[in-house]
Amino acid sequence: MSQGTVRPWLRRFEDVGEFYLSTEVVVCGYGGAGASAALEARRAGADVLVLERASGGGGATAMSSCEMYLGGSGGTAIHKALGIEDSTENMIAYITECFGPHGDPEKIRLYAEGAAAHFDWAESLGVPYKREVLLERTVVPFTDESLLFTGNERAHPFNKIAEPVPRGHVPSKEGDEGGKIFMQALMAKVEAEGSIIQTDARVVAVLQDSDGRVRGVAAKIDGEEKYLEASHGVILTAGGFVMNRSMIERHAAHVIPFGEPYGNQWDLGDGIQMGMAAGGNAINMNECFLSFAFYPPAKLTYGILVNGHGQRFINEDAYLARLGHYAGLQDNHEIYLLVQNEDFELSHYMENLRIAGTGDSIAEAETEAGLPPGSLQATVAYYNKYASRGEDPLFHKTEQWLKPIDKPPYALVSYCPQEVKYPLGEKPGYLMFTLGGLETLPTGEVLTAQGDVIPGLYAAGRTSAGLPRTAKGYASGMSVGDATFFGRKAGQQAAASGDDT
Ligand SMILES: Cc1cc2nc3c(=O)[nH]c(=O)nc-3n(C[C@H](O)[C@H](O)[C@H](O)COP(=O)(O)OP(=O)(O)OC[C@H]3O[C@@H](n4cnc5c(N)ncnc54)[C@H](O)[C@@H]3O)c2cc1C
Repeated sequence: MSQGTVRPWLRRFEDVGEFYLSTEVVVCGYGGAGASAALEARRAGADVLVLERASGGGGATAMSSCEMYLGGSGGTAIHKALGIEDSTENMIAYITECFGPHGDPEKIRLYAEGAAAHFDWAESLGVPYKREVLLERTVVPFTDESLLFTGNERAHPFNKIAEPVPRGHVPSKEGDEGGKIFMQALMAKVEAEGSIIQTDARVVAVLQDSDGRVRGVAAKIDGEEKYLEASHGVILTAGGFVMNRSMIERHAAHVIPFGEPYGNQWDLGDGIQMGMAAGGNAINMNECFLSFAFYPPAKLTYGILVNGHGQRFINEDAYLARLGHYAGLQDNHEIYLLVQNEDFELSHYMENLRIAGTGDSIAEAETEAGLPPGSLQATVAYYNKYASRGEDPLFHKTEQWLKPIDKPPYALVSYCPQEVKYPLGEKPGYLMFTLGGLETLPTGEVLTAQGDVIPGLYAAGRTSAGLPRTAKGYASGMSVGDATFFGRKAGQQAAASGDDT
């Protein structure tokens, strides 16, 4: 290869002298999206090579709880077994409200139409799911139920727009090992059905010909750059960019003061950068999942969240990512949870939190925390007046979580990011991962800024801008659900579109 033509993330196909390997579909990244793409491309008859930079597959998907957001079509097999109904239109109405103008209506519709069948696919891999539902307000079931509410379905404003249905589907096992269980089952199928897996292979560039078609990749294998030809297509499934500080600075700088990267160490944005180098458009790059986790225990929801002005800013029964979105918008990201003694219970998220103020009166707690004089007292007086009638005229917290805060003593727990220490991280902050990436059709085909398809190039998972677009509307399960669902579509499309040039 002539070194004069080398650009970051891109090589000229015509300059390649010798191919290390030639195949039909090359998948770059062996996590949830990549493994799903490989399996379906192979099932559609293509020869498939998967390149993975780590020494084994799994990625962030294996680290996850593997909650998948599924429903519609009358309900998944779990819904049906439990007598829970969900229509496709109900699911579309909910997800559309979640992402507003950021959402991709075509992807939302296709996903909602296919999500129940996607559950059957996941179960057919041998992943165990139990036909039991956990209805309490939580994030991940540490018991073995496989169905739960994982978003804002029961909270304002979503409960006015769509019938609340639990759609979080998680592999059944006590503890939090869903991702490991799912990826082991999926990778076993990928390998049994004949895809070739090359680990310790970092894809560093795509090979593009002079007509703009992507025809393979360059990868670092055994310390050397090698060229791999793909006659049908290259699928970029290398995760997001949350671990790439300079990309975060460039695209999502607003999260730096309060976001703590959460994901696989190789979420460096390689796939996105390669796609962009080949002419792909990257969209939604400023949006991140953010986790403001103050529950479980659910009874903390009886408390109120206030900012540094002593004022509420959200209905506290919202899902943790929506809380994260609004918490991130408050001045200095200064947030406190006010809770009365009877509702106080230590959450595992609270281990390292500071109690900013306590008191036998709201005034005392307010003064101890240094909130503006009278601010919290006014907030609580207003809140209590309506809570005693089961109303929340300001933020519409549901009646289930409304009761006056009038039984001392009171505590104000500080969630100021510089003071929050989550169990996982060394750095304080709200856990986050990125939701921006390459603009694709629902088939995974990568688009240019002009809306043209780049022949031979596909993307899925967090390398693409998929189903989930904002923390404001995120529900747990929308990322793995999206990565595996649209990963499969990309695999099928790449296999079907041979090199006919
Ligand atoms: C702890 C945790 C829990 C979560 N829980 C959930 C949940 O329950 N439900 C949910 O929906 N979402 C959850 N998420 C988010 C979700 O796991 C991810 O967004 C999703 O799994 C991403 O899938 P992916 O296939 O795009 O990426 P990954 O699964 O991360 O796969 C990308 C792969 O590409 C590889 N790679 C990177 N660069 C290269 C390169 N240059 N060459 C070759 N290979 C490369 C990586 O090593 C990795 O194996 C969670 C995230 C975390 C961190």
